[in-house]
Amino acid sequence: ESYKRIHQVDHDVQAFLALDEERARNVAKMLDGKVHTDETKGLLFGMPIGIKDNIVTKDLITTSGSKILGDFDPIYDATVVEKLHNAETITIGKLNMDEFAMGSSTENSGFKKTKNPWNLETVPGGSSGGSAASVAAGEVPFSLGSDTGGSIRQPAAFCGVVGLKPTYGRVSRFGLIAFASSLDQIGPITRNVEDNAYLLQAISGLDKMDSTSANVDVPNFVQSLTGDVKGLRIAVPKEYLGEGVNEEVRQSIFASLKVLEGLGATWEEVSLPHSKYALPTYYILSSSEASANLARFDGVRYGYRSANSNTLIDLYKNTRAEGFGDEVKRRIMLGTFALSSGYYDAYYKKAQKVRTLIKKDFEDVFEKYDVIIGPTTPTPAFKFGEKTSDPLTMYANDILTIPVNLAGVPAISVPCGFDKGLPLGLQIIGKHFDESTVYRVAHAFE
Ligand code: GLN
Repeated sequence: ESYKRIHQVDHDVQAFLALDEERARNVAKMLDGKVHTDETKGLLFGMPIGIKDNIVTKDLITTSGSKILGDFDPIYDATVVEKLHNAETITIGKLNMDEFAMGSSTENSGFKKTKNPWNLETVPGGSSGGSAASVAAGEVPFSLGSDTGGSIRQPAAFCGVVGLKPTYGRVSRFGLIAFASSLDQIGPITRNVEDNAYLLQAISGLDKMDSTSANVDVPNFVQSLTGDVKGLRIAVPKEYLGEGVNEEVRQSIFASLKVLEGLGATWEEVSLPHSKYALPTYYILSSSEASANLARFDGVRYGYRSANSNTLIDLYKNTRAEGFGDEVKRRIMLGTFALSSGYYDAYYKKAQKVRTLIKKDFEDVFEKYDVIIGPTTPTPAFKFGEKTSDPLTMYANDILTIPVNLAGVPAISVPCGFDKGLPLGLQIIGKHFDESTVYRVAHAFE
């Protein structure tokens, strides 16, 4: 059914970079013939899933949206992909994204433009644009994305689906092609909250291959979907409803708060005073980490190699000049500058200190409240080309999602209304490792 739908609509939506129909059919056949008891049956038995193309899949081309990895055929599976095999899902294919997950519209993909299924003239968001669009278009019910500064939640909001960025450390990053290692997290994108909880269940847990994965219990997320939010204390940061956030978005948040009030929750306005520094802090830290992580793409070890080089230095230069797109080059230059001697203290070190303050803002609020609620994005999906000429307006689109990554806490985006026919997202932010409460609140809307 997934392939039937993909053949019908992907011509328009352009969510997939690679499909593996033959293998998927074989896996489906094998699962069909397997004898299970209830306990041995995989958690997501037979469910079709699409995977963001920065998550490595054995023998299935993995490009991270970049020409520099155009023909990279991994020899191993990411931990999350192994876990999906255990859950008995069926991998349908790989999903388009901004190159190396840098972007907010999927327009930075080295290969093609994914469209928003709600309106083909608008972007699906990014960087997990293919992951959100494929679910919204009914091509797959489940997908994996990655979120460094909003890349699961923002496209989920733009495409009217449910996307969760787990707590940093909840899900193994082994096999995720690194953008900014201290911020990156893999997470589920689905049509509803219950599916989302099932998928997170399947991919969570400590992994000896990722030293930043956390040794904490994985609760039963689905069991937390009780519908009970009585007595829940909600904080609404005034910084998240201020300038730049459009009126329809604001109204949709107040309407959602009313629903929760009706169910017995209470809300109060709070302040996250360092929010205004989140954007510059994020771009210094993420670009610095990216400049180090992307040093490995040298034309020798992976993927693309420039053909006409006489010396090793030329080989590096030509490969990187031809293989990387403009946005990736911009980040590498920003990061290299911020890390260079003489500037390190002024930029990188300062940004680390501000990150601590941003984290502390969240800790202070969570002493008194159970969740923080606000919009996922200041506006609904924008049109192609609208923000490509000025990187800063593109960066500003992530202003409400980025602080969450800097703090390392979990957050979900769930659909909460429309503005001129385009979906809007409500963001629910929780305490470290408290995805259960986040899901419980999100579920109250279904
Ligand atoms: N849009 C942000 C960026 O370009 C976030 C990307 C992400 O979360 N991967 O960095």
